[in-house]
Amino acid sequence: MKIKKNDQVLIISGKDRGRHGKVLDVFPESGKVVVEGANIRKKHVKPKKSGEKGQIVEMPASFSISNVKLICSKCGKPTRVGHKLIEGKKYRICKKCGQEI
Ligand SMILES: [Zn+2]
Repeated sequence: MKIKKNDQVLIISGKDRGRHGKVLDVFPESGKVVVEGANIRKKHVKPKKSGEKGQIVEMPASFSISNVKLICSKCGKPTRVGHKLIEGKKYRICKKCGQEI
């Protein structure tokens, strides 16, 4: 996966296009991500006890990883991710500035 948890990403399509956010979760099997503040769904929570009111909780729902672009932590630009091997270890690099991310 090119995107990891806690990465900063830019949303490039959908209703939250142009929004930046932190990746809260990545689901490699389904190719989906959850981004802070993006794709907000309202969830109704039922009252636990009788007499209590139900609540509406807003939480971000997952969406396709192809809708986000990684923001390089070094140059701050949305970028594509490259990889390079150094002494057998794989590193992610920014295609814009060439630095490790
Ligand atoms: Zn960069």
